Amino acid sequence: VTGELVVFAALRLEQRALARGLPGGTVRRTGMGPARAAVAARRLSDSTPGAIAIAGVCGAVAPGLEPGDVVVATEVRDGFGGVVPCQTAPLLAAAVRRAGLPVHTGPVQTVPRVFGGSRARLAAEGVLAVDMEGAPLARAGTNVPFAWVRVVVDTPKHRLLSPRTLRTGATALRRLTDLGPPLRAWADAAGPRTVLLAAPRSFCAGVERAIDVVEEALDRYGAPIYVRKQIVHNAHVVRELSAKGAVFVDELAAVPAGATVVFSAHGVSPAVRDQADERRLDVIDATCPLVSKVHAEARRFARRGDTVLLVGHQGHEEVEGTLGEAPESIVLVTDEQSARTVQVADPDRVSYLTQTTLSVDEADRVVDVLRQRFPALAAPPSDDICYATTNRQEAVRAIARRCDLLLVLGSTNSSNSLRLVEVAEADGCPARLVDDIGEVDPGWLAGVRTLGLTAGASAPPDLVDRVIDTLSALGPVRVDEVTVATESIRFALPKEVS
Ligand code: SF4
Repeated sequence: VTGELVVFAALRLEQRALARGLPGGTVRRTGMGPARAAVAARRLSDSTPGAIAIAGVCGAVAPGLEPGDVVVATEVRDGFGGVVPCQTAPLLAAAVRRAGLPVHTGPVQTVPRVFGGSRARLAAEGVLAVDMEGAPLARAGTNVPFAWVRVVVDTPKHRLLSPRTLRTGATALRRLTDLGPPLRAWADAAGPRTVLLAAPRSFCAGVERAIDVVEEALDRYGAPIYVRKQIVHNAHVVRELSAKGAVFVDELAAVPAGATVVFSAHGVSPAVRDQADERRLDVIDATCPLVSKVHAEARRFARRGDTVLLVGHQGHEEVEGTLGEAPESIVLVTDEQSARTVQVADPDRVSYLTQTTLSVDEADRVVDVLRQRFPALAAPPSDDICYATTNRQEAVRAIARRCDLLLVLGSTNSSNSLRLVEVAEADGCPARLVDDIGEVDPGWLAGVRTLGLTAGASAPPDLVDRVIDTLSALGPVRVDEVTVATESIRFALPKEVS
């Protein structure tokens, strides 16, 4: 056997169910128990599979797992201190989830008897489920992509030897068949590849400052610290700060009177500041100084009597905040079409500003239309699209034409991350926005020999490392970093936390 997926199952029933989902695939039967699995593992050294998976049914030990649930192991323990990590688990789990199956990921352990031993002890050690064959095969599979995936047939609540046995057994066997396509997609993603790493990427100075503000406030004033809106548009950042005691609210009405509230990096309108004063809230302003700069320009242009054309996205928090600086003077222009139709009071007194996180090319096109219509159009003294947005787009442009696929790490509400996808696609490179490696469908990676990788300005840098670690378990990875600019900007913290 060379270069293909080899699936191991203990029992003939499991082997048949798996083979039904993998037409033309190789599903080998090991027989039951660690000793038989060790024999199969020894035979494995005579062949060179492309990927190895251990599949079948398992016993759950952790609470919350139900018969029919799928478990994908993040590591296989042998019960004697030996641990084999399964680094591609997030990819396989993503494929199982996309197939519509309920999936859990975590450590599993190989035991001599599934129904002996203490489930409570294993659960306390963080083990999700147990099998009887995994560890010997896992040890043999360390040189190729390796996965452990099983369907729960027995739980502490639903014991195997109960009247439910036949029903849960039939469900589990159907689920094993359903695992075929996800396993195939996972194995097809294996292979050597080059990763072109765009630089700069990930956190900008404004995002680092905003996160520092919340962390410092928690240290100094204790939890809870209220934060109006997401401090930055990233699910990981919000989750981690929530765990430390930050409470995210949509509106100030949800903040108790007299409490401390942080305004997010995207900025707020004067009306929100007034509301905070009325409610006697202690405000710490984490607005990015580059957003504050746009607010100041909006006030200055409006004071001198201009109609201010704000190029930006309807409903974005930053845009809402800037519009609020002079609602009677600022008009939102969302795209080239609205630039062609927007009306102003006096064409000789008109200026424009932009959201900080727009696509540079798209904003240029919109401003060109405005300039043609209003030759007296006044520009901001310096670009409103910030250095971080510009640099990250430039870096994507530098690699896009060389990549089969670009992954952008970032959340779906992150404007600058979405723009990175658009920049790549404009250069003909397919691109996907994902929160983390757990959202990457392995099906996207089949045949991708050169992968571009970047992260939006609000996405933590360690997410990039995790993608590379996971890809490295699918085959040899060469990482080439392509740097278009070096960033050294830092912003001082507000006085309340400095
Ligand atoms: S993307 Fe730009 S404007 Fe937004 S927080 Fe970062 S530096 Fe500030």
